[in-house]
This record gives sequence, structure tokens and C-alpha cells, in this order.
Amino acid sequence: MPAVALLDDPAALDRLLKATGAIAWRLDWQTLTFTYMGSQIETLLGWPLASWVGINDWVERMHPADRDQVVNFCISQSRAGIDHEAEYRALTVHGHCVWLRDVVHVVKGANSEVDSLVGFMFDISDRKKNEEELTRLHRQLEEFSYQDGLTGIANRRMFDSVLEREWSNAQRSGQPLALLLIDIDHFNSYNEHYGHLQGDECLRQLARTLSGAANRPRDFFARLGGEEFAWILPETHLEAARAIGERCLQLMRQHPIPHAASPQGQPLSLSLGAGVTVPARRDFAAGFVDQVDALLFQAKRAGRRRGEYKDFRA
Ligand code: GH3
Ligand code: MG
Ligand code: MG
Repeated sequence: MPAVALLDDPAALDRLLKATGAIAWRLDWQTLTFTYMGSQIETLLGWPLASWVGINDWVERMHPADRDQVVNFCISQSRAGIDHEAEYRALTVHGHCVWLRDVVHVVKGANSEVDSLVGFMFDISDRKKNEEELTRLHRQLEEFSYQDGLTGIANRRMFDSVLEREWSNAQRSGQPLALLLIDIDHFNSYNEHYGHLQGDECLRQLARTLSGAANRPRDFFARLGGEEFAWILPETHLEAARAIGERCLQLMRQHPIPHAASPQGQPLSLSLGAGVTVPARRDFAAGFVDQVDALLFQAKRAGRRRGEYKDFRA
């Protein structure tokens, strides 16, 4: 159904809005006045529904830092007849900010002139908060050596701080959090056989190889110290965590590192433990790390070159 017709079909619109949490609006392009505004805007931002008269109300209720760029972009796209999207901070009646994503369809008349704009606003505050936190942590990584000097990936300090953040996120959202702990097999004898410098090079290569095992934006890879690495995988169930663990082992087979002195045989191998949990309010991340470490130990005891996986909720 075209977006314009949808605004005239209250039942269909209501279903769509309930399902997506979107706030619909329509702006007449001639007069730049709103001919429709979803009543949920009042709940979200606090401004009375009737106060949304024209485009200036939208412009003025936008964070000044976003205003010029967003308004110029939306107006030039609309003028050119191009559908577009913008993300910006809307101001509430109390002066707070709410991050919105506005998806705009340009409706054209018979002569292909712009007739009106139909848009849907989405509250993306939660996503933005996570993104901002991630950006902040990345900046800190540069600022205060959250980076591992040998491999260039995140170090233990960064790991602790990301784990605390994702732990609270999972406590709040009830989504499963997966943790993968990885330890090189017989690395002592690697160092003895090839020397420490070659050992360091091996760690660098391993960091490069294993960092390709997962790639969602919040997936996080770190060197915990020595020859131990970890993946933090938010919103990840056991099967996906197992797939990523097995992918680490497969990547090692695809990019083999010779280890002539290994009691295990060629090439260099890894053991790993992967656990999944949904933390309760009273749980601490450190306890979960210990549980996953015990899985890693099990993998070592069971003969190395393998993963042990467990859903701690089950
Ligand atoms: P396992 O299979 O039981 O894990 O045996 P392992 O020999 O790997 O034992 P462990 O994990 O205890 O050994 C860690 C070794 O890693 C000790 C040290 O020689 C080596 N190592 C730790 N940090 C570094 C480093 O920065 N560079 C190099 N080259 N070696 C390191
Ligand atoms: Mg070790
Ligand atoms: Mg080891």
C-alpha cells in the first residue's frame, strides 16, 4: 500500500504503528504545514499534538547542533524528489533530547511536482546510546592505551570495560551474552623451539586471523594477556557462539602456523571455551568469566585442539 493511502486507512496505519513503534506524519509541500501528525509524538516529546503546525515547529524542536545539516539535507532531497532518511536529536518540551530516525517519502503530483512528504519517525535512543558508548570506548582505546602493544588489538583493560557494559546491557535487555576464551596449545614449547621473537610474531598473526571470526558491530575481540584471547558476543545464542568457536578453529586450519615441537602434532592449535548466559541482577561478570575459563580447561583436558560449549541457562 502506498504510504499516502496508508494515512487515510486508520486501521492499517494503527497496526503498522503498533508493530514498529513509528510515528507517522504528512507535510503539505506548498504550504509547509503538517496535514497529519501521529498523536504518539505527544507522549514521546511532550509538545501538544496541536502545536505541530508547520515545518518550523519541526526545525525549532531539533537540537541546534544537528539542525543546519539535517534541515538542509531534508529540504534539498525533498526538492529533488528523492526519498531520504535522517537521524537527529529532537528536543522534548522539558529540554531533553530524543534520538529520532525520520524516514521520508516524497509524494509527487500528476505533473511530477512535489505534492507532500510522508514520514515515519522512530525512537532510536537506545541504539544511539550504545553507539555513543562504543565510540567513547574506542576513543579511550586510543587515548589511554586500551590497546595491546604487541598485536594492536584491544587489551585486557578494554576487555574488562566492554564486558561490564555488555553485562549491564544483557541484564537490562534479557538477551543472551556469549563469551569465548581462547588459549594456544603448547605455546611454551613453541617459544622454546622457535624463540621468543618468533613467538611474538605468532601472536600477531593469530590476532589477525582470529579477528575475522565474527563481524557484527558489537562483537568484540581482545588479547587478555600471554597467549590468551577472547571474543565478547552480545545477543548471541549457544548455536551462534558454537559456530564462531568452530570458525576460530577452522581459520587456524586455513592459516596454519607450523609448530614442529608440539606434542600435539602439526600445525599450531587452539583450545577454547564458549559460554552463554542471561545475567540476573545479582550476577557478576567475573563469575561468568570463571565459568567459561572452566570450559576452556575442560577442552585442554579432553585433548586440546577443540572447543567446549555450554549454555549456562540450560
Ligand atoms: P597449554 O596447551 O596447556 O595451554 O600449554 P602452554 O604451553 O600454552 O601453557 P600456558 O598456556 O601456561 O603457556 C603460556 C606460555 O605463553 C608461557 C609463555 O612462554 C608464553 N607467552 C606468554 N606471553 C607471551 C608473549 O608475549 N610472547 C611470547 N613469545 N610468548 C608468550
Ligand atoms: Mg595460557
Ligand atoms: Mg596455552
